[in-house]
Amino acid sequence: MIIAAATPRGESATAMEPRKRQTVVTPFPGTEAGGKAVLPPSARGFAARLIRWHQRHGRHDLPWQNTKDSYRVWLSEIMLQQTQVATVIPYYLRFLERFPRLADLAAAPVAEVMALWSGLGYYARARNLHACAQAVMNQHGGKFPRDPHVIAELPGIGRSTANSIATFCFGAQAPILDGNVKRVLCRAFGIEGFPASSAVDKRLWALAAQLMPQRQGAIYNQAQMDLGAMVCTRTRPRCEACPLHDICVARAGGRTAELPTPKPRREIPLRHANLLVLRDGARVLLETRPPSGIWGGLLSLPELPPGADAAAWAEQHFGCRVLAVSPAPTLVHGFSHFRLHIAPLLLRVRPLHSVMEPGRQWLDLAATAAAALPAPIRTILADVHRSGNKPLLSRKR
Ligand code: SF4
Repeated sequence: MIIAAATPRGESATAMEPRKRQTVVTPFPGTEAGGKAVLPPSARGFAARLIRWHQRHGRHDLPWQNTKDSYRVWLSEIMLQQTQVATVIPYYLRFLERFPRLADLAAAPVAEVMALWSGLGYYARARNLHACAQAVMNQHGGKFPRDPHVIAELPGIGRSTANSIATFCFGAQAPILDGNVKRVLCRAFGIEGFPASSAVDKRLWALAAQLMPQRQGAIYNQAQMDLGAMVCTRTRPRCEACPLHDICVARAGGRTAELPTPKPRREIPLRHANLLVLRDGARVLLETRPPSGIWGGLLSLPELPPGADAAAWAEQHFGCRVLAVSPAPTLVHGFSHFRLHIAPLLLRVRPLHSVMEPGRQWLDLAATAAAALPAPIRTILADVHRSGNKPLLSRKR
């Protein structure tokens, strides 16, 4: 399940600029019948430009650079999917401290991996990370395979990530196509259409393959990522500092705000969930979510079905006598394809027996900060913890 909020496309400053048409630059025309990209003349020297630019302006000192250790490179690649470098760095360092080798990660309980990942979002990545470490240990003798096609068969690794690992660690000359690279290619070659659609994706892969140089693949791939992250950013690209400035179709046509073509708009539905904060003194009742679906494998608060009476439900399903019920402040959390309106209910309870069903646990409120909890549940429990025994009237942010 993808749990991070959908990222709305902000209005780019470049959308306000008058359209400039000083240079005639031909858009990327498409692919030949066999799927081979037909390259415009502007593609000549594309890789060399990027490699030269990277030597002077690229990033060279990130914690996962200057190594060919496939474990470290793979870990960084997974964490960097949909996530900014600055956010990833502390997680990456914490993971390496706790799991210095792939074998350590494979041997750890998945709950511990989820707890360390907590807050980084897109939790399927953490489950796949653990599954992938175990697959490498069990199927490949503890060493990452070198062939990108074989790497791509491992859990949680797509074609671009596999090629990236093979390029950085094993000297392959394999193209990558992450979000940054797609943005650069769509703009530089004037490629229309939503990049994730299968036709455009196919076209971009064909182009990426043809642009791939015979040598220096690792530097070239890093240069593309860096250019997308540092210069050809989603909003406000710094075209004046770009090595593709004179060949870029989007810049020449004043279309940097239009390319890549945004995802076709659709209404994001709002769903509702009533969550129970069952509090017995300083501890609260938490449940482990099913392995797949929203917040899969994480701890969460029990859900109250629509229309059910909270006190009766708590007694019947959780074996608790309810002493008091009070509403807590609501919040809205954004997922990739819907928003969730969460209405927590605070119940002061006394457990009627000590036997717990599997997957449920009482956890001290003070310990919830370090538990594997989704961000909104962490927020609710932090409020409850802060409030002591007072009613929860407002949330301080
Ligand atoms: S010239 Fe501007 S839009 Fe074109 S690739 Fe460079 S930064 Fe991106």
